[in-house]
Amino acid sequence: MKLHKSSFVVNLGITNSDGIKKWHYFNTLSRKFISLPDNLKNICSRLNTNEKFAEFLKRRRWITSFTSYSDEMKDAIELITTSGVNNRTLNIIFTLTTRCNLNCNYCFQNNVSRHDASDNVFLSLPSFIRRQIILKPTIKKLRLSLFGGEPLLMKSRCLNLLQCIKNECSVLSVEFESTIVTNGIGSNPEFWRIATECGLKSVQITIDGSEKLHDSFRNLNGVGTYRELLSVYSQLSRNFKIGLKYNLNRKSKKCFSEFLSDIDNNCFNRKNTRIILEVVKPMEYNNLQNYYFQPFSMEAANAYLSCAEESLKFDWQVSLGHVFQPPCMYTQENPSTILIRPDGVVSRCISVFNDDSDFTVGNINDPKLSLINHNIKKIIEDNAIKCKINKCPYFPLCMTGCPSLKKMKLKTIRGILCSYNYLQRMVQGLFLLKNMYPEKFDILYF
Ligand code: SF4
Ligand code: SF4
Repeated sequence: MKLHKSSFVVNLGITNSDGIKKWHYFNTLSRKFISLPDNLKNICSRLNTNEKFAEFLKRRRWITSFTSYSDEMKDAIELITTSGVNNRTLNIIFTLTTRCNLNCNYCFQNNVSRHDASDNVFLSLPSFIRRQIILKPTIKKLRLSLFGGEPLLMKSRCLNLLQCIKNECSVLSVEFESTIVTNGIGSNPEFWRIATECGLKSVQITIDGSEKLHDSFRNLNGVGTYRELLSVYSQLSRNFKIGLKYNLNRKSKKCFSEFLSDIDNNCFNRKNTRIILEVVKPMEYNNLQNYYFQPFSMEAANAYLSCAEESLKFDWQVSLGHVFQPPCMYTQENPSTILIRPDGVVSRCISVFNDDSDFTVGNINDPKLSLINHNIKKIIEDNAIKCKINKCPYFPLCMTGCPSLKKMKLKTIRGILCSYNYLQRMVQGLFLLKNMYPEKFDILYF
């Protein structure tokens, strides 16, 4: 069997330190870096003499026996689209309401009518969850995300729901945990105390910059929210995992260091706090589009990298989970993550709240509802004709581009939104950061 370097391995050059040469690579399928004492081509030609090493490189997909890019692509599509099948955790993002007490101009829910989940949807959720767990015996844990709009507008509903789903999971012998995605305003200590007892483990709040900028977006009747957020959530970081989702745009990028010193001064628990960087996609109806980066542009990549470097310098954990997307919930054939809208309709995308049939699946009220997306492999492969011709090494990191963005820009999910230059810049930039901060690099998650 002839082995050779995988098409999804990016060459990052050679270094020579004190006469010791190293060849560096990045694997776009596993998202791992590796440094080797020789180049992969030479290593492959000698592999028969070291079967264990060959097995290791093959298992981790640094080398392959596939003879064509097309077969490798098929294998990557299979791996990525079926990643949900054996996932032990089912993630349900439940939208309690699309109402909100703030009025952020970029919110993707600005083009939907705002309302609460009906009693009927609340009542249907436990039996929907039960059906999914019975259908998929591999599920050993349920993670419920309380999502909005602003879920804290419905505090007692949040608590009742947590208690109810926790009980359901206990009957099914499935572990339960929950998270809340909130603008952070309107909580009280009693809420957090009861929520902890009901399985709430983590909280994600959104930040739009340091004080002045954040408060220009996120104020309640003209009063800024930044100071209050930092004060309340730094205290909560003692007991909860806190995600500080930092919305990146041209203005917020400039004050990121100021934000880092503010969270430092507010004594957030570093072990429990993670900054989540996200370049906000400009929406057609947002009148402040000039603040925003074009998604997957060089400018966006540079913003991610400079903020990641600042965070590394000051030892803050950072999630770069939004950098390489898709793969995402949309690209899973048998999804381990779904979003439920307030009307009970299931969406395959966290940003799609309309009735677009490319993203909506059916209603949780329907006992026959199937979450399986039978067409996904074919859609991705049909879209990827040019990627195949170009033998693109970045395919596993983009899967031809974000479908919801395609729908906005191309008016169809068929076709590609190529982010080759962005992906190349991100991978090379991450490699530089790995070399500059070898001891700390693992606090970046991507
Ligand atoms: S389709 Fe795009 S916006 Fe939706 S979940 Fe996937 S990557 Fe995210
Ligand atoms: S869309 Fe562009 S970056 Fe993505 S796999 Fe195809 S060629 Fe590569």
